[in-house]
Amino acid sequence: AALTASILRDRDGRPDVTIGMVEDISERKEVERLKDELVSVVGHELKTPLTSIRGSLGLLEAGVAGELSVEAADMVRIARENTERLTRLVEETLDLERLHAGRVELEVRSVTPVDLLAATAQVVQPVADAAGVALEWQAPGDLELFVDPDRIVQALVNLVGNAIKFSPPGASVRTMVKAHGANVLISVMDEGRGIPPEQLEAVFERFRQVDASDHREKGGTGLGLPISRAIIEQHAGRIWAESEPGAGATFRITLPLPQGKPPVAVYDRRAP
Ligand code: ADP
Repeated sequence: AALTASILRDRDGRPDVTIGMVEDISERKEVERLKDELVSVVGHELKTPLTSIRGSLGLLEAGVAGELSVEAADMVRIARENTERLTRLVEETLDLERLHAGRVELEVRSVTPVDLLAATAQVVQPVADAAGVALEWQAPGDLELFVDPDRIVQALVNLVGNAIKFSPPGASVRTMVKAHGANVLISVMDEGRGIPPEQLEAVFERFRQVDASDHREKGGTGLGLPISRAIIEQHAGRIWAESEPGAGATFRITLPLPQGKPPVAVYDRRAP
């Protein structure tokens, strides 16, 4: 913890008022900040060489240096895919650092949940088709939210993308929006393998994956959920995970509804 105190003096130089301020900079927070900073510096340093590598590989693939043998083309493809993955990791790392540092300005405007779900569907539908997973969407048409639509869609794409990733073919992923008191409640429900109770909170930590093979097999970065949480918290909302062992996972988001227009209260026993 850091303590700052200033003593104001009166005209004769005697202590007059003492203002003490205790800033609770816990050691943990400071370590987090240093980690963010280190990662940000490294990330920026990696961006330029990565762009150059990607460019060169792209030119090789396009045949600029002559026709490639089948083996060479294969190697170049693998190198390009890994470079793209590394680029994604760097970009997400930098994004998270900016969110944590409060350097992301939200571009807030009025949107309906239907708009948000439609924009999300556009991104994830091809992924769901490829995985053989059905997507269902449900939202009331009469709600209005003041949010940064790009950022909320980014969080929803992460959640629905995960739900698809951890679902078997033939399963469904349902995304539902409803008014809930002064908030809107968004639920993303899957029928996949679920999340063990002791991991429900841990999955929101960076690079945390329930199964060590998730990284290799599912190609994730382990940054999707921390980024989603940072986005939702910047909107003064909450995000958490629920799961019954063997019955899939549900991710829930609450976002405050605009004040002054009290929504019709909906009672829901499952919500907090
Ligand atoms: P990524 O998906 O890139 O690995 P995330 O931060 O989005 O990173 O998720 C972290 C981990 O949480 C995942 O690797 C996975 O182990 C677990 N997880 C997230 N969503 C689900 C889900 N719907 N079902 C089961 N596990 C999940």
